[in-house]
Amino acid sequence: MDGSAARASSSPSSSLSNYRVGKTLGIGAFGKVKLALHILTGIKVAIKILDRQSINVSEAEKVRREINNLRLFSHPHIVRLYEVIETRHKIYVVMEYMNAGELFDYITENGRLKEDEARHFFQQIISGVECCHLHMVVHRDLKPENLLLDLKRNIKIADFGLSNIMRDGHFLRTNCGSPNYAAPEVISKKLYAGPEVDIWSCGVILYALLCGRLPFDDDNLPGLCAKINNGVYTFPNHLSHGARDLISRILIVDPITRLSIPEIRQHPWFQLHIPRYLVTHSVTATYGTRKIEEDVVLEVAKMGFDVHKVIESLQNGMQNEATLTYYLLSDKRFSVHHNCLKNELVEPLIKAHDDHPEVYLRPLSADQRKWALGFQSQASPRETMTDVLKILHKLNVRWKEIGHYNMKCLWLPLLSSRPNDTLYDGPTQLNYNDDLDLSISCPSRVGVRLQNAVRFEIQLYKASEESYLLDLQMIHGPPFLFLEICAAFFASVVA
Ligand code: ADP
Ligand code: MG
Repeated sequence: MDGSAARASSSPSSSLSNYRVGKTLGIGAFGKVKLALHILTGIKVAIKILDRQSINVSEAEKVRREINNLRLFSHPHIVRLYEVIETRHKIYVVMEYMNAGELFDYITENGRLKEDEARHFFQQIISGVECCHLHMVVHRDLKPENLLLDLKRNIKIADFGLSNIMRDGHFLRTNCGSPNYAAPEVISKKLYAGPEVDIWSCGVILYALLCGRLPFDDDNLPGLCAKINNGVYTFPNHLSHGARDLISRILIVDPITRLSIPEIRQHPWFQLHIPRYLVTHSVTATYGTRKIEEDVVLEVAKMGFDVHKVIESLQNGMQNEATLTYYLLSDKRFSVHHNCLKNELVEPLIKAHDDHPEVYLRPLSADQRKWALGFQSQASPRETMTDVLKILHKLNVRWKEIGHYNMKCLWLPLLSSRPNDTLYDGPTQLNYNDDLDLSISCPSRVGVRLQNAVRFEIQLYKASEESYLLDLQMIHGPPFLFLEICAAFFASVVA
C-alpha cells in the first residue's frame, strides 16, 4: 500500500484496508486523486482524498447529504461514486476509475473537433446532466477538466455534488480555476442559481469543443465577468448554421429564456445521429430502482458474504462491504460499452403489468403515491425556488440553504405580530444558528423570541414528470405557530 494518505489519517490501518492504493492520477484544488485496487474484486477505482480542513464545518452536513444522494446514482455518463470513508482528518471518496484522461487534454491535443464528434460528446454530457437535474442535483462546475474519458471515447461527468461543496470562492481562491464556464447569474451572485447554470456551462463546453477556444475570455477577471454578463462572444466562420443556432440559444444571459434540457433535446443539431439509448431520459435509473441481479448476489456470496444479508443491505440502501462489492461487480458487468451497444439501459423503472414481479431496492417514489401533502407546482424547480425565497423574505423567515432544493428555516414571530409585518430589519439570509449569538448580545428581548422560535425545513420534491411538491416540515417550536407560518406561506403562494 502506498499509504501516504492513510498514514496522515487517524486510523491508517482500517480506513483504506479494502484497497491497495497506487499512483497519483492527478492533483486537484483540494487534494489528490489516486488509483487504487479493490482487493476483493480486483477492480480498479479512483480515490479522491480530501482534507477535512478544506471543508468548513457548516458545509459538512451538506457534503454528507449530497454524497448520500450521489451514492445511488447510476448513469452511463456520470462517474459512479462507490463509497465515502471518513476519518478524523480526511475524507476518501471512492469512485469509478476513468482510464483515458480529461476532455480538457483531449481538446488540447486534438484542437477543435469535427461537428459529429463534438455532438457525440455533447449528447452524452446533456444526458448525464439531465439525469442529475431530475434528481435535484446541480453540478455548478461543469468544464472539460471535470469530464473524463474512457478508452472508447465515452464521457463521464466527474465531481457531481463534490464541486458544490467547494464552490464558495473556488474560482477566485485557486489559481487553477477561472470562471470562463460560469453563468452570468453565478458571477453576479443572484439570489437563486439553479440547474440553468449547468446548461450555460454546457453551452460554453460545446463552443469550446467546436471552436477549440473559449467563447468568453479576457486577461483580467473584471473584463471576463463583463463579457459573460453581457453575453458578448463571436462565432468563427467554419461553424455550421445548426451549431450556431443551438449555442446562441444556450448562451443567453437571462436564465428564463435560456434553452432547457428538453428544448436542447428537440434541437435538430442535437438530434442528428443520436444513439438510441440516449433518445429518452429513461437511462436515469438510480440504484434505488434497479432490480437486484441474482447472479451478482451469488457472486458476492461466493466471496464470503451471507446471501440474505446482502439482499437485505441492498434493499435498505445500506453502505457496507457487501453492497460495495455488489455494485463494483454489477457495474463491471453492465459497463457503458456493454450497455450502449446492446441498448439494455432503456428499461422501465416500474413495470405496470408484470407476471414475475421483481425486487426493487426502494419503495415506490412520490409519483406513484395517490395523494400528497404540501404545495404542488407545475412551474420549473428554479421558478418555484425563486418564489419560495421571495415569500420567505416577505414573511421575515430566515433560511439556510442545505441543498439546492432544501433549506432550514427559522421564524421568530414575537418581533412581528403578524408574519408579514416587516419589523425584523436585519439581513434575511442570516446564519440559521445566529439566534444564539443574538441571545448573548441582547438577552431580554431575544429570550422571549427564542421561546417562540419556529424551526422548519422546506424541501422541493419531484412528484411526477411535470409537477413538483413543496414540503414544509416542522423541526422545533410551538405547533400552532408553525401552522400560522404555514398559513401565511400558503396565503402568499396563492396571492
Ligand atoms: P479538482 O479538485 O481540481 O476538480 P479533481 O480532484 O477532480 O480536481 O481531479 C484531479 C485529477 O484527478 C484530475 O486531473 C482528473 O483527471 C483526475 N481524476 C479525478 N477523478 C478521476 C477518476 N474518477 N478517474 C480517473 N482520474 C480522475
Ligand atoms: Mg474536478
